[in-house]
Amino acid sequence: MGYPNPSHAKETVVLSKHFGDVGARSFTGWVERGGYAGLKQALGMTRDAVIDVIKASGLRGRGGAGFPTGLKWSFMPKNDGKPHYLLCNADESEPGTFKDREIMRWTPHALIEGCAVGAYAIGAETCYIYIRGEFTEPWKVMTDAVRDAYAHGALGDNVFGTGTKIHVVLHRGAGAYIVGEETALMKSIEGKRGNPQVKPPFPAAAGLFAMPTTINNVETLASAPHILVRGAEWYKGLCKGNPKSTGTKLISVCGHILRPGNYEITMGTPMKELIYDMCGGMRPGRTLKAVIPGGSSVPILNAQDVEGCVMDYEGVVAAGSMLGSGGMIVMDDTTDIPYLVWRLARFYAHESCAQCTQCREGTAWTVKVMERILKGEGQESDIQLLLDLADNMTGKTICVLSDSCAAPVVSGLQKFRGEFDAYLSRRRQPALAPV
Ligand code: SF4
Repeated sequence: MGYPNPSHAKETVVLSKHFGDVGARSFTGWVERGGYAGLKQALGMTRDAVIDVIKASGLRGRGGAGFPTGLKWSFMPKNDGKPHYLLCNADESEPGTFKDREIMRWTPHALIEGCAVGAYAIGAETCYIYIRGEFTEPWKVMTDAVRDAYAHGALGDNVFGTGTKIHVVLHRGAGAYIVGEETALMKSIEGKRGNPQVKPPFPAAAGLFAMPTTINNVETLASAPHILVRGAEWYKGLCKGNPKSTGTKLISVCGHILRPGNYEITMGTPMKELIYDMCGGMRPGRTLKAVIPGGSSVPILNAQDVEGCVMDYEGVVAAGSMLGSGGMIVMDDTTDIPYLVWRLARFYAHESCAQCTQCREGTAWTVKVMERILKGEGQESDIQLLLDLADNMTGKTICVLSDSCAAPVVSGLQKFRGEFDAYLSRRRQPALAPV
C-alpha cells in the first residue's frame, strides 16, 4: 500500500513500498512484510562479505555526496581494538528535501535494520541516529520502534541469538542546519558546539569520541537490507544505462508542480518524465522556468537544461547541476529568480556557523547586495561584486555551506542575467520596499 496517488504507479518502489502503511511501523508488522531478513542474512556472513555485496551493488551515499557506500565501510580499520561507531545522519534539513523524514515516519524498522547491518559490517557495537530536532513525529515513531526492536531481540547484546552486540541510540538535534555536516554532527553528539572542523583527520581514522567512525544517510542505510536479500545484481540492474549510478532514488519534488511529493525513481529516469508523467506537470497555463534538482545548495537549471537531463549522479552534473540529496524544487514562469537567490542567500547567512571569514562575511554581504538590487537601489557594479563574493566563498572554507550560498548566485546570474539587469535598470518594480 502506498500513497493514494495514481502517478506513483510509474515509480520503482523499494524503500517507499510501505509509505502510508501504518501496519509497517511495528516490529511484527515489519517482519510480516519481509523485514529483518537482510539483517539475519548479514549476521550469517563475515563482515567483509557484507561489505563486498554492498560494493558490488554500486550503492552510493544518498545524502548528497554520492560516495560509494561499500568503499566507505571498507575504510574502517580492522582488529584495531578500538570501539567503532556508526552514525546515521537523520538531520535532514536541506531546503526542498523531505525523504528521510518519510522513511522514519512510515518504515522506522527499515532504518533500524539498515543501521544494524551497517554497524555489523564496520565492526561497530553502537550506532547513533541523529534526528533533526524539528522532526517531532519521526522522533516519536523511531523511539517506539527502537524500543520494539530491543524487545524482539533485533538490537541488544545478543542480536537474534547470534552473540553479536548492536545498540542503537537516538540523538535529537536542536535545530541547526549546519550539524548535518558530518564533523559538526559528531561534535554535537559529543555535547560540544556543532561547528564543522577541518579534515583530516577523517572520521574513519578519528571520528566520534576520536574513534573510527562511519557516517551514512538514512536512505543509504535503509537500502542495505534490500540489497542483501535480493542481491547486488538485482540492485545493479536498477539503472537506465549508466552503471555508475545504480538502484532507486527517492526524489522529493516541491514547488510549482501539480502533484508534489516523494517519488522513488530508477536511477537514470529522465527529469521530464518525473516532472510531467509522474508529478503531473506545471500548474494550468504555466510553463517550466527553472529547477533546483538536488536541494537548495546546487546550481539552478533552466528549462533548456532540463531537456535531456537524466536523474542520476552523472546525468545531472552533465546538465550543469548536481543530484545532491534529491530535493527537487520546480519553478514556473511566475518565479522571480533574483528574489529566489536573495531568499536562499538569507537562509545560508542565517545558518552559517561564522567560523570562516569568507562564509560569515560573504553570505551576509550577498544578502545585503541582493537586497539593494531588489529595492531598486542596485548599481551595475553589483553584478561583479556578487560574482567576486561567490568566488571567495567557493572551495576556500572548512565546509561547503558557503559554496552552497554561492551556487544559486552564480547559476542565477549565468542563466537569468536579464532579470537582474531589469532591476538594475529600474525596468522591474522593486520586490522589496526601500527602508
Ligand atoms: Fe561554518 Fe560557513 Fe565555515 Fe562551514 S563554511 S565552517 S558554515 S563558517
